[in-house]
Amino acid sequence: MSIQLVNLQRQHEELYDEVRDAIERVLDRGDFILGSEVEAFEEEFAAYCEVKHCITVGCGLDALTLALKGHGIGRGDEVITAANTFVATAMAIQQTGATPVLVDHDPETYNLDPRRITAAITPRTKVIMPVHLYGQPAEMDTIQAIANEHDLLVIEDACQAHGARYKGSRCGSLGNAAAFSFYPGKNLGALGDGGAVVTDDDSLAQWVRAARNYGSTVKYRHTIRGFNSRLDTIQAAVLRVKLRSLDEWNTTRRWLASQYLELLEDLDLVLPTEVPDLDHVYHLFVVRCQARDEVLQHLIQQGIQVGIHYPVPIHKQVAFERGCVIPTPVPHTETFCDQLLSLPMCPYLSLDDLETVAHEVRAALVREGLHAPDAVAGRV
Ligand SMILES: *Cc1c(COP(=O)(O)O)cnc(C)c1O
Repeated sequence: MSIQLVNLQRQHEELYDEVRDAIERVLDRGDFILGSEVEAFEEEFAAYCEVKHCITVGCGLDALTLALKGHGIGRGDEVITAANTFVATAMAIQQTGATPVLVDHDPETYNLDPRRITAAITPRTKVIMPVHLYGQPAEMDTIQAIANEHDLLVIEDACQAHGARYKGSRCGSLGNAAAFSFYPGKNLGALGDGGAVVTDDDSLAQWVRAARNYGSTVKYRHTIRGFNSRLDTIQAAVLRVKLRSLDEWNTTRRWLASQYLELLEDLDLVLPTEVPDLDHVYHLFVVRCQARDEVLQHLIQQGIQVGIHYPVPIHKQVAFERGCVIPTPVPHTETFCDQLLSLPMCPYLSLDDLETVAHEVRAALVREGLHAPDAVAGRV
């Protein structure tokens, strides 16, 4: 038996003919770099995110970096973000020459805690970069109010939140700009690396469009110092096929999460909290458990793949020694990393498999003496 954390094979089996046709169209046209499918995907993804512009780039890290650099962020500036995010968020800040300032998260939602932001603001602060972690939108109204009061930009790391809504508005449309990743395992994933900057800001869009392509929008005319960070035309063609299913997939993720919540409700676990009026799109289904390592070992032995997002906080990484600032202690980030456990979650997880995972989590807790054994008898 084997249950994967993310089952991409089944997704690709279902879409096989459409994906093959899309790739064949690109082969026939031969426009492999910045071809017509790239333009079409950019229009469709901008419309999906309810913003004016989408500029595709090579990956999510580049999208974050270019969104920052396009706003003039660099050496001497500080960017406030969540201490418990994926390393790419902080690395993008570092790449611009600015300093990542890491703030703890709300223990219920795992998102940047707005109550801790103000204390981290200095005269060098230029940007707040909330991360919609695990697929749940950050507390944007409060963050925006703080940004307005201190004249700061808000740039969303939406790499885990394709299609999520905050009080009716799409993640990606909530700040000055947002970055998406199309890494294969994301809610919208390519068959390789990919990313995008989305924004309503015309001049930022124009800058990123040139920056991703050697600082050029007219061939052999280079107006700014640029990069080579372009989404392959083949990836754009594949993403166009998958974008059509994204809302349906997110609905399935939410339904699967509701099944997990029901089946795990009585266990000694901290389950994800859904904030009313925010559409959590469950990029990951993360629980917290005192006996995390024992439960993790048990699940692996049963052929169930699990993850830890993330086991080592950014400020404990060698690459960030002296490379980030922690203005106030981050106790949740430091203690939760030993308790977090991501259970299998993707739209192609079957209810049967989900029930097996829930059953095995229960069995592991019973084995650790953390749950009464009678509860395990009635296998779901
Ligand atoms: C995946 C991810 C990124 C980086 O995306 P890549 O395409 O892998 O560069 C950035 N931030 C977060 C929160 C992510 O989950």
